[in-house]
Amino acid sequence: METTQPRRCLILFGAPGSGKGTQAKLLKGLLGWAHISTGDMLREHVAAKTELGLRIDSAMKSGSLIPDEVVNMLVDERIRREDCQEGFILDGYPRTVPQADLLVRTMRASGIAPVVVHLKVDYNIIVARLASRRLCSQCGQLYSVASNAPIVTESCDYCGGKLITREDDKPEVIWKRLETYDNQTFPVLYFLLGAGYPSHDFDGSDGSPQVIAGRIVQLLLG
Ligand code: ADP
Ligand code: AMP
Repeated sequence: METTQPRRCLILFGAPGSGKGTQAKLLKGLLGWAHISTGDMLREHVAAKTELGLRIDSAMKSGSLIPDEVVNMLVDERIRREDCQEGFILDGYPRTVPQADLLVRTMRASGIAPVVVHLKVDYNIIVARLASRRLCSQCGQLYSVASNAPIVTESCDYCGGKLITREDDKPEVIWKRLETYDNQTFPVLYFLLGAGYPSHDFDGSDGSPQVIAGRIVQLLLG
C-alpha cells in the first residue's frame, strides 16, 4: 500500500546573525525544501513600497518586531504554495509566543511534525558578524566582508547586484535586536519544546556554513 510522506518542516531558531539565513539557503539546495524567511518577505514589501511595506518601513529599520497578525498572514499564505509540498524551512519565524501558538495549531491540523534546530552563537561574535554582513540587493545572497567576501568588492558573485548593508545591522540597532531576541523570541524555544517538538542545539560558530549544514542534513536524514 502506498503511504504519503508527511510534509517536513525545519524551524531554524537562533538570534539575529546566528546564521539562519545562510543555513536555510544551503539546506534548500541540499534538501530541496522551500526557504521561508519572514525577514526577506517583509524586506521585499519595503523595497517594493507596497502599502504594507510603507507601514512597516520604520519598524524594520529600527529593529522592532512587526505585529504578529501581519507576519502570521504572510506565513499562512506562503506555506500553502506548491513549492512547500515536500518540506519547508522556517527562518526567523516564529519569533513570539503567539506566532508559535498559531504555528503549532496549524502544523497539528496538517499532520506535520516540525524539528527545531537551535543555532547558538556568542553575542560578541554575532555583533562582529552583523557589522560585516552584506546582502545582495537583487538576489538576496549573503556575504561577510570578514569571512566570505565577494570576488569583486560590493558586487554579487552570482548576479552582479549591488551589495548593501542592512539598515538594522547598524551597531546601535544590533544590541536592541539582541535584547528583543532575549525577551520575546528565546521563550519561544520552551513553547516549542512544550509542544513536543524535538530540538537540537548546534554551535553556529563551530565551522564553515557548509560544515554546519552537513551536520544538520545528517540529523534530518540520519
Ligand atoms: P541570520 O539569518 O541568523 O540573521 P545570517 O545567515 O545572515 O544570520 O548570518 C549573519 C552573518 O554571519 C552573514 O554575514 C554570514 O555570511 C555570516 N555567517 C553565517 N554563518 C557563518 C559561519 N558558520 N561562520 C562565519 N560566518 C558566518
Ligand atoms: P531577519 O531578516 O530575520 O533578521 O528579520 C529582519 C526584521 O524583520 C526583524 O528585525 C523584524 O523587524 C522583522 N521580522 C522578521 N521576522 C519576523 C517575525 N517572525 N515577527 C516579527 N517581525 C519579524
